[in-house]
Amino acid sequence: MEEELKIACGVFGTVDFQKKPVFPYIYWGLRAQNNRGHQSHGFLTYHEGKFHVHRSLDLVPKIKTSAIQEWFGRLPGHIGIGNVRYSTSGKTDEKSLIKGTQPVTASKKGFRLAVSFNGNVVNTVQLKKKISKEFPRFSYECDADLICHKLLIELEKGKDLASAVKTCMQEIDGAFSVAGITQDGEYFAFKDPYGIRPLCAGHSKDNSTYAFSSETVGLDINNLLFDFEIEPGELVTTSKNGFKRKKLVNSKLKAFCAFELAYFARPDSKLGEKYVYEMREEFGRNLVREYPDIIKDADIILSMPETGDDSALGVHEESGLRWERASRRHRYVTERAFILLSRERYSTIDKKINVLPHKVKGKKVIVTEDSVVRGDTTKVMIQRLKRMGAKKVYLFVTFPRIIGPCFYGIDMASYHQLIGSKHNAEEIAKIIGADAVCYQSIKSYVKATGFTKNQLCLGCVTGKYPTPLAQKIADKMKERFLKGHKETGRLYEMPEVVEST
Ligand code: SF4
Repeated sequence: MEEELKIACGVFGTVDFQKKPVFPYIYWGLRAQNNRGHQSHGFLTYHEGKFHVHRSLDLVPKIKTSAIQEWFGRLPGHIGIGNVRYSTSGKTDEKSLIKGTQPVTASKKGFRLAVSFNGNVVNTVQLKKKISKEFPRFSYECDADLICHKLLIELEKGKDLASAVKTCMQEIDGAFSVAGITQDGEYFAFKDPYGIRPLCAGHSKDNSTYAFSSETVGLDINNLLFDFEIEPGELVTTSKNGFKRKKLVNSKLKAFCAFELAYFARPDSKLGEKYVYEMREEFGRNLVREYPDIIKDADIILSMPETGDDSALGVHEESGLRWERASRRHRYVTERAFILLSRERYSTIDKKINVLPHKVKGKKVIVTEDSVVRGDTTKVMIQRLKRMGAKKVYLFVTFPRIIGPCFYGIDMASYHQLIGSKHNAEEIAKIIGADAVCYQSIKSYVKATGFTKNQLCLGCVTGKYPTPLAQKIADKMKERFLKGHKETGRLYEMPEVVEST
């Protein structure tokens, strides 16, 4: 995985009908999901009609035993939501990041609302204009602000929660998986009509606690039982009797993000019918079946540590080739590439991954990796293996070639940053110095996931996007990109592009 690529957010929320404090549930639910956002984190609880909030930058912190009571005091209440975030919208200076930290709140004429969100809004420019009419001083730092204010506007018109959420589903183009709390302490969750980002529901064995979590690992760490994945276009509310589900919008197409399954989701999370780990192992088996000549020629398998491990096991089991565990991650080197100076970027991989040279010297090596986005860090790794004396280096990539940007919360929002947008596998191999780059086919990839093609978003590998505005922007910008026009930022944040589309 390219070091710079991130996902938008992770969501967790809980209600406890025995009125026990929920802060510990939210804390652990977010700790388990820090893979979904490193830039900031936040907790919000509801107690006696008031919201209590803590927001901060960086990873969810470790809490010293001596400080636990202080945290409980700061975040009282039996209902709460939390969020870990990486920004795929808004500005990224420190001040803006703090302002964009979730959960967010909004209030108007006595109405109040709190929201934690994962996804990305595509019609940001249009929505912002509409919201500004109702909230003249509306300042936008993250898409959660848009969702929260839009929902509040609809509630304030006198609509009930279901009608207000339905309007949001109809008028917002993009991916949104949301958990929220109203001023009356109603705890709810919903997903966009395509169900692009994950959000599941679970409960405690004694039926007193009900939770929403982006990934099932957030339930596991809290010893909660998995109930269901929220359906696209569905609103879920909670009461003492459990969850109440209501389908508000029917869309012909479901479009769960296929890329979650290759990298972003934790391997021990369950998505659809399978654990992610099982899918990734099958991706490896598929690559063996699709590239028999390379398998015949190769001596060993080496994985990009962690990101390529699960597929390496699949390659090993299907081919019988030795999986040499000679590449390891420097476990406590956790700096993200985006905060390193740009001149340091190319050596980031050396800081993070160690390889035993004598294990690759004179060998024909298959390197397993989940995806190639920019190709620069992969290039560094391949050149390093060649310098160590590897005779040949073949790159096995589980996610099919990425040819277009993502509009839905993965931080690859323009064509120019994608090596696959204008180069095929042979050309990419030449650029990064590999003897071959072997992508898994889309068909095999889909089959291994247990989903059908009509249940997945494959926009970045097919160019076909599930939501209308994203498709229009993608088509228009691709044409301009191929003619040599420069992209000046995230496509969905460029008013000149969005407004003319
Ligand atoms: S475009 Fe790609 S990364 Fe974005 S939601 Fe679709 S599959 Fe996922």
